[in-house]
Amino acid sequence: MTKFVFVTGGVSSSLGKGLTASSLGRLLRLRGLAVTMAKLDPYINVDPGTMNPGEHGEVFVTEDGGETDLDLGHYERFIDVNLKRTSNATTGSIYSAVIAKERRGDYLGKTVQVIPHVTDEIKERVRRLAEDGVDVAIVEIGGTVGDIEIVPFLEAIRQLRSDVGRQNVCYLHLTLVPYLAPSGEQKTKPTQHSVTELRSRGIQPDAIVCRSDQPISDALKRKISLLCDVPVEAVVSMADAGNIYEIPLVLHDEGLDTYLCNTLGIDLDAHKIDLSGWEAVVTRAESAERRVRIAMIGKYVNLPDAYLSVVEALRHAGFFHAAAVDIDWIDAELVPGLLESDRLRNLDGIVIPGGFGERGVEGMIEAARYAREHGIPCLGLCLGLQVMVVEVARHLAGLEWAHSIECDSTTPHPVIALMDEQFDVVDMGGTMRLGACPAMLTPGSQVASIYGTEVVSERHRHRYEVNSRYRSRLEAAGLSCSGNSPDGRLVEFIELPGHPFWIGTQGHPEFKSRPDRPHPLFRELVAASLERAEGREPHLIELDLR
Ligand code: GLN
Repeated sequence: MTKFVFVTGGVSSSLGKGLTASSLGRLLRLRGLAVTMAKLDPYINVDPGTMNPGEHGEVFVTEDGGETDLDLGHYERFIDVNLKRTSNATTGSIYSAVIAKERRGDYLGKTVQVIPHVTDEIKERVRRLAEDGVDVAIVEIGGTVGDIEIVPFLEAIRQLRSDVGRQNVCYLHLTLVPYLAPSGEQKTKPTQHSVTELRSRGIQPDAIVCRSDQPISDALKRKISLLCDVPVEAVVSMADAGNIYEIPLVLHDEGLDTYLCNTLGIDLDAHKIDLSGWEAVVTRAESAERRVRIAMIGKYVNLPDAYLSVVEALRHAGFFHAAAVDIDWIDAELVPGLLESDRLRNLDGIVIPGGFGERGVEGMIEAARYAREHGIPCLGLCLGLQVMVVEVARHLAGLEWAHSIECDSTTPHPVIALMDEQFDVVDMGGTMRLGACPAMLTPGSQVASIYGTEVVSERHRHRYEVNSRYRSRLEAAGLSCSGNSPDGRLVEFIELPGHPFWIGTQGHPEFKSRPDRPHPLFRELVAASLERAEGREPHLIELDLR
């Protein structure tokens, strides 16, 4: 029987519910339990795919091509399990399903209502998580208790406790315990109000995790226990951590996983915890002796969450090399004015991340050129690959005004174009290539040597592709299309032989990096950047010339 843990939040948004849920997931995995995670989001968008990353943060792409909330990235990085598009449901997707059923006549003439029809659809989505021998499904409810939109979700998870059995469900509530400087005290009143709000929806939390800037005292825990009616061992202090990967260790020290396992009837003797592997990651993360400066040259640099998985992938690579990766956030639009500056000169590496639309693209092309001409390691991700191709087209292949048709629909040289223009696959035009796609790497190429294999798979999310009509001219100019789709029609990886590291991928490798298993492209980007930072001769990645 699958157990369910529902995670809600109160008092304030952005308390780190996703990280708390993920950390609990990691602890349960370290106990040898099969864990899955999901997020229920109360907004009306059918999925976050259409949301502006500058406001809402990154869209996380699952193996099966789901465009999901960025919290799913935390889940995957912590529990190291690939999730699915069904691991994220929004109010919009739930109402769409209910309305489609109503139109099909599935409700047999009944009046369709929030209770039971919408709540049944929510419960159905949650129950579906209990497949494939999952021991524990951790479900985070987005938003904050007290929001109007969250009410059907709270009602659904309240009902689920009696549907699946009381002993199979736990409610974990995350709140804020603020420190008031004038009185020099941490305050519990917001927590009390938030628990009252949750109870008014019929949910009594089993455990309360208190976010605060400093750990909360035992006296305060006793007060929260008394006023909120949870045992004192179920009041958990989660003070701000320097490194998010420490949170599982903090929660374990506070006894959260032990308490929840006991509550859910999970046999602790059969599921002893082994923290050693995770502790090793945290120790490594904290023992950085080297430093490297890597620029992120993008258009959403004012909200680093827009590139969350890229930042985490760089950090994972840093853990591997025991190096702190300092990210210099450079607005792509400013690059043309920085070409003579120390800011670019002092960079050890560059990442040109994904993005949509025209703004900032000229600056990214300049950055790719600067990296190529100055031997700076540079990794292009999706749009990043596309700007690298445009750069080579314009400056090495002599194709004046070459561009991606996403940015210039009248370019004389559309080196990046829509798939349907190239292959007459009309019904693919205007849609995105989403999810995991295989690629064949050229034997002896840099990318094959970095991956250590010649067949790879990365997740995709893009509309445009390298235009195959230009491929031979680009290759004659020195570009190597070193990874391709299995049918050979789509370019998946590019590189520049002779450059220490100037590599682009049409996929998004950042989604597959893990704290204890950095993605090879990020690992080697940071390695090449460290060589530059430490003034060593770049060791050209060894080519295996078979
Ligand atoms: N805008 C580009 C495309 O749609 C790249 C997308 C991306 O970087 N994810 O092809």
